Amino acid sequence: MSSLTPLRVAVIGSGPAGIYAADALTRQNRETVAVDVLDRLPTPYGLVRYGVAPDHTKIKGVARTLRGVLEHPGVRFIGGVEFGRHIGRDDLARAYDAVIYATGASVDRRLDVPGEDLAGSVAATDFVNWYCGHPDTEVERFLLDTEEVAVVGAGNVALDVTRILAKSAEELSATDIPQPMLDVLAASKIRRIHLLARRGPLQAKFTAPELKDLGALDNADVVVRPEQVDIDPNSEAMLGAARAARTNLRILREWAERPFEGKPRRIDLRFWTRPVAILGEDRVTGLRVENTTLDTEGRLVGTGEHETLDVGMVFRSIGYMGVPLAGVPFDGTARTVPHTGGRVLGSGGNVLPGQYAAGWIKRGATGVIGTNKSDAAATVRALLDDAPELRAARGGAEPEPVEQVLQGSGAIVSDYADWLAIDAAEADRAAALGRGERVKLLGWDEFYDAMGALRANG
Ligand code: NAP
Repeated sequence: MSSLTPLRVAVIGSGPAGIYAADALTRQNRETVAVDVLDRLPTPYGLVRYGVAPDHTKIKGVARTLRGVLEHPGVRFIGGVEFGRHIGRDDLARAYDAVIYATGASVDRRLDVPGEDLAGSVAATDFVNWYCGHPDTEVERFLLDTEEVAVVGAGNVALDVTRILAKSAEELSATDIPQPMLDVLAASKIRRIHLLARRGPLQAKFTAPELKDLGALDNADVVVRPEQVDIDPNSEAMLGAARAARTNLRILREWAERPFEGKPRRIDLRFWTRPVAILGEDRVTGLRVENTTLDTEGRLVGTGEHETLDVGMVFRSIGYMGVPLAGVPFDGTARTVPHTGGRVLGSGGNVLPGQYAAGWIKRGATGVIGTNKSDAAATVRALLDDAPELRAARGGAEPEPVEQVLQGSGAIVSDYADWLAIDAAEADRAAALGRGERVKLLGWDEFYDAMGALRANG
């Protein structure tokens, strides 16, 4: 290990990719490092906190591992600092030898059908932020006052959205959903959910454990059309080693044979169906869909058979996209930061010294949380290979403390102790409400109140 002053690295984003990058920086043990993990929120963990469904407590448990990284002596958490607003690339260069962008993918893909922007047509990202209690959302954002809805997409987020809509308030009570949102879910009038996949069961992106959850709900029957899981033997033989698709098919076939129990809610899981128009004047009153098939070259085509579903809301859950970062190269088609092995590339394809990317902003919104570990480790290997040049670029100059760089930026900077105060306040709220281990605070003011209480107590 080098005995020089630490290599200073800023990680932008404290989701799994950012924290795994910080972890790799401290573990690879090739350099002394000082890592600052910056986040626009005073709460760390990114999508683990504001993306993983509240009832997936086992997956959320990864926060315990991520916590250990933030408590490493070589790592600091700096909350309340938004890249592009409070700090930019040039400011970072005054304080750090290198920066890793790990800002994820925070907006929804567009369906590009008429009526997409009607009231009641909802991006999954918005709904997920809402039930996860993101501080930028508000309780009034959703009123579940319609009996029939559609969820479009065949990925795990579509399953999350469907499950949260289908569960009873009792089933959700032990989760960390903020109480005002839980009250809205408890008053939901939704009785029927059409979950629409534009291709077949073999092409669905669901993973089996998540799919299984849907079939184990106290409050909802899942209806699968037997003819849609009656796959011809040739296609099934072509599955070969595709274990995930085989497992999904087995689960779906079981469901197709299950008797309908008449539970309070019903989920119609329907394949080979794509939306062609969202209908309504001021708000959604229906969804026009078309049956689909694959042509001889495997391309998705419409069959010309249309139908109108009588739904009052449409949840569009067709994938997440990255958002450009001010002054950082961006590939508008892939919606990622262009890179080679994690090193950010400029417009001429040249490596931009000292700039790196990890996670969804590097590779797109794919994979599970654990995928980010190896992804971030690869980026960090490249960064540490570059350490001699990064130090040389510093010259004799001492980096400025980031606190100094942030002066006058307007950022309300918070630290790990502030997060622990929020964490404790959320545990207190759960205890007071008799609900599970945590109930999320809601909104920036509640965060500041919890942090202020800590500061007031010295
Ligand atoms: P995703 O896995 O990419 O699924 C997107 C779905 O939308 C696909 O079924 C896709 O169908 C469909 N789609 C795309 N464009 C469409 C269109 N124009 N019309 C109709 N359907 C369309 O995305 P995601 O569900 O947002 O998940 C993102 C990532 O997070 C995934 O890696 C996922 O596994 C992960 N995640 C994991 C968990 C978990 O482990 N529990 C939970 C949530 C999310 P095509 O295949 O035909 O394009």
